[in-house]
Amino acid sequence: MSLSSLIGGFVRRHWPSYASSALMLAGVAACTVWVPRKIGAMIDGLAAHRLGEHDLWLQLAQLLGLGLAIYVLRVGWRLRLFAAAYQLGVELRTRFYARLSAQGPAFYQQQRTGDLMALATNDIDAIEMAAGEAMLAGFDGSLTLIMVLAIMALGVDWRLAAIALLPFPLMALAFWRISSHIHTASTDSLKRFAALNDHVQESLSGVRTLRALGLEQRSARQFGELAARAADASLVAQQWEAAYEPAVGLTLTAAGVLTLGLGGYLVWHEQLTIGALTSFTMYLGQLIWPMFAAGWVLSLIERGRAALARLQPLFDAPLSVDDHGSIATLAPGRLRLDDVSFSYAGQDTPALSHVSLSLQAGQTLGLVGPTGAGKSTLLRVLLRQVTPQRGRVDWSGHALADYTLATLRSAISWVPQESFLFSATIADNIALGRPGAKRAEVEHAAHMAAIHEDILRFPQGYATHVGEKGITLSGGQRQRVAIARSLLADSALLLLDDALSAVDTGTETRILEHLEELRREQPGRSTIIASHRLSAVAGADLIVVLREGRITESGSHDTLIATDGWYASQWRYQQLEASLDAL
Ligand code: ATP
Repeated sequence: MSLSSLIGGFVRRHWPSYASSALMLAGVAACTVWVPRKIGAMIDGLAAHRLGEHDLWLQLAQLLGLGLAIYVLRVGWRLRLFAAAYQLGVELRTRFYARLSAQGPAFYQQQRTGDLMALATNDIDAIEMAAGEAMLAGFDGSLTLIMVLAIMALGVDWRLAAIALLPFPLMALAFWRISSHIHTASTDSLKRFAALNDHVQESLSGVRTLRALGLEQRSARQFGELAARAADASLVAQQWEAAYEPAVGLTLTAAGVLTLGLGGYLVWHEQLTIGALTSFTMYLGQLIWPMFAAGWVLSLIERGRAALARLQPLFDAPLSVDDHGSIATLAPGRLRLDDVSFSYAGQDTPALSHVSLSLQAGQTLGLVGPTGAGKSTLLRVLLRQVTPQRGRVDWSGHALADYTLATLRSAISWVPQESFLFSATIADNIALGRPGAKRAEVEHAAHMAAIHEDILRFPQGYATHVGEKGITLSGGQRQRVAIARSLLADSALLLLDDALSAVDTGTETRILEHLEELRREQPGRSTIIASHRLSAVAGADLIVVLREGRITESGSHDTLIATDGWYASQWRYQQLEASLDAL
């Protein structure tokens, strides 16, 4: 979509605001062009001794009235128009955010957070300016230009108007050249600002790591370099914008010289009055605004176009996971993977290869295997964050893709390896699992996740703020708050992705016992636990060992111990390790 069609569509939808602004602007322009004519007539009246004292005061009062009307109308159009232009910013940001929310991990892997933030702020601001300031200045400038030219040619003297316009084509040529440079400079400036944003975002997220590695100085130096590059790029854009001014100045000076030359000749030969020449010269001065407006509009439009060119690919990027399913209810049932294979883009070795398994409603599945074996990927397949290139995944008799994404996501609770807590109270963080949950339900979930006692020890208990501007929880506490959140969601399928790795074995046992209790209370609920620690899955109905994306062993704990493969050797090793730790 081009900038003109984007703004055109927006103006059509918000035409009352634009129309009323345009009317007020037309009023401003009419009042403005009236002033020199009035002053010219007054001068001629005074020179010919036609203007008496009473009339002079009256005309001065009229001039003052015109000035007041111009002021009121200017405030009016600004209020109407900018309210509308800000609305375009809101609409674009809402669309942008909705698109980002619908995208899957594959999309985010190709994007940088700081860049996305710059697009949502700086770039959309530039488009907003093109829809507000540029539209207005364009309309105002054109209207003033037409009216001033018309009155110069028809109301004063057409010969003067013709000669005054001679230098203007040269100015148009200069404007055209300058605007193409502004487009390039603006694109560069927006990109460099985005790179600066990236650096700030990454450094702030990793500030502890930077400090631990003693890299603050290096990071500060990089920031300084990026800031200087962003400033240089902005300066280049500003320099090109500044080039409009001399072009306007030169054109108007040339027009002034030509006008005075011809005007002087006409006055000399009594074909023009001094008052008319004064009016004409004042009108020439009134052309300064339309000329500057043209330069300003061109630079705002080029900035807007550069911003839209950066934003458009994000709007157009296909959703990395489609949402064409139509089934909106999901009764807990059997989960079945049949010959599922999946490779990440650009990877030669598949992350999952010919995986088949079946889990009855209410059962618990343990997923184990060495690091990089494909455990998290299998959970991502169930969450539909990635789509397998081969095989089929069914849940309760329907292909996963037949459900709407919203249905699927509300039927699954997922605790990822890196649990994220929002900058809010602990109670609010847990309640995200089921917005509107009562305090007693939040506390019950916290109890089930073995975090209730820890929370009571925090300064303000459940009202303690965590994350930014709040206290920092330990890795194990964060994991348990995230588990409490997912237990509160009360979903048909609970996915724990190494979510007990940071808790001690005693706490792990308590949480697993609570999960077992919940299973007895809600028989249809299934759980999948991916873990490096085998004690977390030993009680599962089915344990699957993944190695290099393939299932190499499966069965109950006892069966796998009897098989004496990878699981059995890992079990012995981890048991020995635990008993050594206990010494
Ligand atoms: P761990 O126990 O260390 O968490 P895992 O068994 O969960 O490992 P996965 O995270 O599923 O393993 O990764 C399986 C394979 O896919 C690995 O080789 C990994 O490098 C690769 N992989 C994972 N995520 C991506 C990604 N987004 N893009 C490309 N390759 C990926």
